[in-house]
Amino acid sequence: MEGKGKGESRAEYCTGYSEDVDVIREREYPFLKDTTYLDHAGTTLYAKSLIDSFARDLTSNLFGNPHSRSSSSQLSTQRVDDIRLRALRFFNADPEEFDLVFVANATAAIKLVGDVFRDSSSQGFWYGHFIDAHTSLVGVRELAKLGHRCFATRDEVEGWISKLDTDLANFPRVFAYPAQSNINGRRSPLQWCKKIRDKSSGKRNVYTLLDAASFVSTSPLDLSDASAAPDFTALSFYKIFGFPDLGALIVRKSAAAIVEKRKFFGGGTVEMVLTQETPWHAKKSTIHEQLEDGTLPFHNIIALDSALSTHERLFGSMSNVSSHTRYLAKRLHSRLTAMTHFNGEKVCQLYMSPESNFDDFTQGPIVAFNIRNSSGAWIAKSEVERLANVKNIQIRSGSHCNPGGTATNLGWTGSDLLRNYAAGLRCGDDHDVMDGRPTGMLRASLGAITNIRDIDVFTSFIDEFYVEKAPSAIPLVSQVEVVSQQPSFYVESLSVYPIKSCGAFKIPEGQRWEIKREGLAWDREWCLIHQGTGAALSMKKYPRMALIRPVIDLDRGVLRITCGSESQELEISLRREITNLVTTSLCQSAKSSSVCGDRVVVQAYTAPTVASFFSNFLGVPCSLARFPPQISTRISNPARSSRGNRSTSMPGSFPEDLSPIPEQPPILLSNESPILLISRSSVNRLNENIKYNPRPNHNTTARAVEADVFRANIVVAENLHQLANAERPYIEDTWESFSVGPEQLNFDVLGSCQRCQMVCIDPFTGIRREEPFSTLAKTRKFNSKIVFGRHASISRMELLRDSGIPKSCTVMVGDVVTPSHVS
Ligand SMILES: *Cc1c(COP(=O)(O)O)cnc(C)c1O
Repeated sequence: MEGKGKGESRAEYCTGYSEDVDVIREREYPFLKDTTYLDHAGTTLYAKSLIDSFARDLTSNLFGNPHSRSSSSQLSTQRVDDIRLRALRFFNADPEEFDLVFVANATAAIKLVGDVFRDSSSQGFWYGHFIDAHTSLVGVRELAKLGHRCFATRDEVEGWISKLDTDLANFPRVFAYPAQSNINGRRSPLQWCKKIRDKSSGKRNVYTLLDAASFVSTSPLDLSDASAAPDFTALSFYKIFGFPDLGALIVRKSAAAIVEKRKFFGGGTVEMVLTQETPWHAKKSTIHEQLEDGTLPFHNIIALDSALSTHERLFGSMSNVSSHTRYLAKRLHSRLTAMTHFNGEKVCQLYMSPESNFDDFTQGPIVAFNIRNSSGAWIAKSEVERLANVKNIQIRSGSHCNPGGTATNLGWTGSDLLRNYAAGLRCGDDHDVMDGRPTGMLRASLGAITNIRDIDVFTSFIDEFYVEKAPSAIPLVSQVEVVSQQPSFYVESLSVYPIKSCGAFKIPEGQRWEIKREGLAWDREWCLIHQGTGAALSMKKYPRMALIRPVIDLDRGVLRITCGSESQELEISLRREITNLVTTSLCQSAKSSSVCGDRVVVQAYTAPTVASFFSNFLGVPCSLARFPPQISTRISNPARSSRGNRSTSMPGSFPEDLSPIPEQPPILLSNESPILLISRSSVNRLNENIKYNPRPNHNTTARAVEADVFRANIVVAENLHQLANAERPYIEDTWESFSVGPEQLNFDVLGSCQRCQMVCIDPFTGIRREEPFSTLAKTRKFNSKIVFGRHASISRMELLRDSGIPKSCTVMVGDVVTPSHVS
């Protein structure tokens, strides 16, 4: 794997750059230290000196709102005019032939073109787009009164173009396509614009709209031949320079007549407006004056000046960037293509079009792919993304706002997709594989500052976690052993998490603790909600929540909360009726909160002291809320549980489409079930694996993790003195049920607990680490799910035992645990 340039020509690698890319990276992109950023198609990153130079520009000049006579205003106007010209020249566009309209982003540029054509004639317009279109291009079809067509193949486009000279349509038509697919880097012929213009020259009613947003981020766009150029070109500057957040619509001046038809005006787009007797207005004369509504984002435009200078100074030209990224993309592509499992099966399915080729520039530096295991089953893309995240590798997964590209690459038909939608598939969710096929793809996209190391780190990551070197070696506990050795377990510790996603409260030894169908008393009774969105906060997003430590003080009847090492303390009454015990008052108006994606009614505390206590500590506007007492309608639903531990899914909370299933245990805010059980022996085994696993790219050995990271309610340990033998890690995977304590309370095991990167948050420091998720991914993956620990609930029969009247059940540290195994 190693070796710079072994057998490969490195002539293209950072050639023409001011310095070696690693030197540039170290000085200009300090935030990239220890990070492998491969989402340049999402946005590329800005250089430090761009920001410094912009800051100097702003602090040494007085910029007023453009278009007035004061010197400060004049300065802004002049700079905007100069930068407009400079931006045109960046694309080799002659200002005699083109105008450039500043807009918010590529989507705004595209929408502006849609508006122009919608207003262009009373009958409207016809719209065609190529299959690779980003949603931003697809959406224009909704404005096209005279119909629209999606062209599925290049041949279809060519066929349509070839008939343009004979067709009789006498209404405006627009053909739109991306210069480069943002999903898999496939490039479309730029010559289409010229062909369309030439073929329709008799009527001049067919226009071209090029979405260059993805293409220009790593390639030079050359508009020097105006006769071959698109009529409209849309792009976003942040994709080229990382900053500013600004877009442009480059308009060929020969299309000026149609632009003038746009109806809306506002801000400085008009010379005169009459508002009283006759509504009349006179438009300004240039294209950009007509289309730039309101005050320009002039500070952003001024930043573009610094962006252009900095980029040129660091990288020389876009063709240097193009060669550099092409070299790296080839390396990435060939490595992923070559990866095989022990049995010869391919690891990666790459979605590069057969029509594309890096060498003739028909392919951009974007690699889309999915991963399979050695038996051919697809690996969930969200799992790969999560694990990559833990490893500080930034990639993207999903359908990348490109519906046509996703569907054709993955072979989904429209009716398939509607069926998936009906089954719950939504943009950005965890429905990674449906009907045995992937619903989206992983995407690694490169940029000017990608280096060889990024490619090597990423490919070794895939190699480390997804290439099976030998037949599965996961030690399954054999049935024989299970039967022959019944280890005896006891409760080592009991924990509740009174505030969801915050620290644990360890139940003191010697204290019997009540357990109900919903779980241990006071578990997940409260949560923190974002004051803006109403969503429950999760430790995944706010790791410092781990440092919020609640103590249940039954003697005084309060929940006492401390934050980190701060001396401040907050006390909340445990009793609902007492609304003003110490510092809080319970809000009586129920506020609807979105806990993990489902609507749940919570009661928020209104006292400002409560809100500020948490907000100040977390640095996010939030407050405490309590769940109302009527929790019995919350039903644990295993079908939903299979979606995993994702913060936005709380299986069980008010499933709208399902009637309650009384046999299922109700749950509070715990993610999947009333009780989570883990075994000390399994934690020990995991820690051995963490310490002894070979760790590519790391010189350090990893530290063991505490059992606390798993946020279990019950930790069981083995009575080793009773055994001649050693510990039995993971034997709990075979448990079907177990009983606890002198009364032998029965618990049903509901299933294994699927894990996410939340286990990486150190419960004592709130800092994210790589372990244990990284080792879990290697040693504890079953059916492409990473599992550790068991979900359980107290048996329904238990609560009605004897009298049929619900009784009080308790557990305690030290209680004997007797499992029953799969027979
Ligand atoms: C990023 C992108 C867009 C959308 O750009 P915005 O800046 O979000 O408006 C459109 N098309 C393509 C091909 C893109 O890559």
